[in-house]
Amino acid sequence: MSLRLDVFTLVPDAFAWMRERRPLAGVLGSGLDFRVFNYRETTPLTAGQVDDEPYGGGRGMVLRVDVVAAALDAVYGGVPEQRVLALSPQGRQLDQELVEELAREPALTLLSARFEGFDQRILDQFATDVVSIGPYVLSGGEIPAMAVVDAVVRRLPGALSDGSGELESFSAALDGGLEYPQYTRPAEFRGWSVPEILLSGDHGRIETWRREHVRSRSDEQTMTRA
Ligand code: SAM
Repeated sequence: MSLRLDVFTLVPDAFAWMRERRPLAGVLGSGLDFRVFNYRETTPLTAGQVDDEPYGGGRGMVLRVDVVAAALDAVYGGVPEQRVLALSPQGRQLDQELVEELAREPALTLLSARFEGFDQRILDQFATDVVSIGPYVLSGGEIPAMAVVDAVVRRLPGALSDGSGELESFSAALDGGLEYPQYTRPAEFRGWSVPEILLSGDHGRIETWRREHVRSRSDEQTMTRA
């Protein structure tokens, strides 16, 4: 199984580091084809223009529909068959269920915007999904696109060196709950000790302890300093 992941952005450089780090580095060229496209390189407007003032007045600039159409035409020869995710704070909130769903797709396109966002016709005509990474507003779609790319790619076979993705928060193996507490050396620090059972070497009891400590989602908000 492999995934072709295409990102359209005004800040292509922002994605450079992702290629050199896991999870992308683990699957690039085998399970993953990752491409980044700059709207400015295919804009039909002069001087690299990609946005314009909003009709009806108001502040800021809006990403133009003809600019996004030209970018999609250049790469796919039109609107692609695959899922096209437009990143917007107004979209469906990204969660692990959506991540798992996206990781099963053969190809995905991510559209990001900056400034005031997308001309509505981009969402209506080109996007199959509008996705938000949370109920807050960022300055651009690059960080949201990175969040989607990272979350989806780490679900691809071979992306994680140790396969640790099977037993982590929100996984089916933990019934969608949160991972048990993790500890490492030193066993004692400033009087804060590691639970004795984890040092016992008794794998059966450790497994039981971990199961008991898988936190339910509803406890999530209580994870603060005592
Ligand atoms: N004017 C828009 C509004 O009020 O809903 C906000 C636009 S925001 C400043 C610029 C762009 O950043 C958005 O079009 C989107 O691509 C991206 N963006 C910002 N926050 C986001 C979020 N929470 N999830 C996904 N994308 C986001």
